[in-house]
Amino acid sequence: MKQQCAILATRNAGKVAELSGMLAGCGLRILGLDAFSEIGKIEENGLTFEDNALIKARHVSAKTGLTSLADDSGLAVDALGGAPGVHSARYADDLPPLPDENRDARNIRKLLQVMTDMPESGRACRFVCCMAAVRPDGLELLVRGEWRGKLLSSPRGANGFGYDPIFFDPVLGKAAAELSREEKNAVSHRGKALRMLLEKLEDFLRKRK
Ligand code: IMP
Repeated sequence: MKQQCAILATRNAGKVAELSGMLAGCGLRILGLDAFSEIGKIEENGLTFEDNALIKARHVSAKTGLTSLADDSGLAVDALGGAPGVHSARYADDLPPLPDENRDARNIRKLLQVMTDMPESGRACRFVCCMAAVRPDGLELLVRGEWRGKLLSSPRGANGFGYDPIFFDPVLGKAAAELSREEKNAVSHRGKALRMLLEKLEDFLRKRK
């Protein structure tokens, strides 16, 4: 298969490296947005993870004329109507940070506060990851991976990032931050979405519109 180039609509070098590795076998060369300085900040103003992944992938494909891939992810708590949802990354930006507190820790502090009096039955939540691929001719592919769990009332574990220390997987009996990277990839929203994308990508890249 002829090698095609695809742009991953992110400036996060870690994501670019991770995805390049996983897509190595499917004839795609992955470039991050940093290779395209003319593309400024993309406004992620969608109401859903699907919307945001598509907004980013469409924008980058239109600007570059190349196939573009984008993802959007976050945590959705059932009893909070899906919050923090698409606002996961900046959920606690309204709170003044404590000394030496990073953004992830502040998000966790806010969510634990909000959930303080929530009974066990209201602690169901899920991580969601949507990935979109958009071809320059407008053909689109969208996949969604979910990882269901329960919110803990205090952090556990030291691995991962974001809300991992307060996300409990009842099947594994561990918090996400207690899993190795491989264990997490096997069950996570991102791992599932990526495997779904990989399954469909070759056909998507080849098929006639
Ligand atoms: P983004 O998809 O990189 O914009 O991530 C959005 C936010 O969702 C992150 O900043 C985290 O707060 C949260 N998030 C997404 N995936 C995970 C995960 O696997 N573990 C913990 N937090 C996550």
